[in-house]
Amino acid sequence: MIPAGFEYHAPRSLADAVKLLGDLGPDAKLLAGGHSLLPMMKLRFAAPSALIDLGKIAALRGIAEVGGEVHIGAMTTEADLLRSALLADKLPLLVEGAGWIADPQVRYKGTIGGDISHGDPGNDHPALMLALDASFVLTGPKGERVVKADGYFLGLYSTQLEPDEILSQIRIPIPAAGSGWSYQKLKRKTGDFATAATAVLLQMKGASVGKVNIALTNVAATPLKATAAEAALLGRPISDATLNEVARLAMSICDPTPDQRGDADYKTAMCGEMTRRALQAAAARAKP
Ligand SMILES: Cc1cc2nc3c(=O)[nH]c(=O)nc-3n(C[C@H](O)[C@H](O)[C@H](O)COP(=O)(O)OP(=O)(O)OC[C@H]3O[C@@H](n4cnc5c(N)ncnc54)[C@H](O)[C@@H]3O)c2cc1C
Repeated sequence: MIPAGFEYHAPRSLADAVKLLGDLGPDAKLLAGGHSLLPMMKLRFAAPSALIDLGKIAALRGIAEVGGEVHIGAMTTEADLLRSALLADKLPLLVEGAGWIADPQVRYKGTIGGDISHGDPGNDHPALMLALDASFVLTGPKGERVVKADGYFLGLYSTQLEPDEILSQIRIPIPAAGSGWSYQKLKRKTGDFATAATAVLLQMKGASVGKVNIALTNVAATPLKATAAEAALLGRPISDATLNEVARLAMSICDPTPDQRGDADYKTAMCGEMTRRALQAAAARAKP
């Protein structure tokens, strides 16, 4: 289908984009890679009066190490993430996760900022952000505020982002040396969203788990931080018994929407399985 008519603006700076967003009001939409927004417009689920294309704002794209963090511009594409030597070295979990997103065509245009902002529980970056303990820089008419990923996702297509704000940067603390990581995603075919997926970042202390973050994709209206499962693993080895208990605790917070990928029981069971596999893979990569 063809989208409804709209104005098109392509500001060259973040300040101009914020001003335009304020001037044009809530009927205007930000355009990043367009791989979620344009399909919605073509189906007429969205009919913004104006699009503000962020693609010409160079300052919004790039990856840099700053102190103990990696800073990523919101307009950095999935392909940029996959090509980054810095990320491969410091944040391999993010690279592994980005490789699971869609297909090469989508990854050349789709951006990390768009993936986070869309608020779609099927998107992979939100759970990766929870596992990586990321923060988001939101820029609006009153300046910048920095919010934690944990608590940012409020519901289906709903986040803490205000209508006059732009997600400008993602900040991720560099995990301790020797951390293990894994993103395990079940999907039916290339280009599909997750039936269920689990992101894990952990540190081993000898044979036991010293620190662990577990986050779940597409098993509720928002990505989920599996805090009870994390707590159950601390100070314990990765064994069949602990994996079963942690998988059970992760499954206990799932509330997935049945669809063509399966019913709620199947998706919940697959979340348990992805959690088991992600923990095993992360532990195998960790250096005590
Ligand atoms: C065939 C197909 C398969 C896909 N599979 C997956 C998958 O497996 N996993 C996955 O995670 N995603 C998947 N996607 C979605 C894809 O990753 C999108 O690119 C992503 O969801 C949105 O990023 P975008 O840059 O395209 O944003 P856009 O589509 O341009 O924007 C999405 C929404 O975010 C808002 N927005 C964008 N940038 C900002 C910003 N900086 N600040 C505030 N608001 C902003 C827009 O206004 C819009 O509402 C798939 C898409 C397609 C078409």
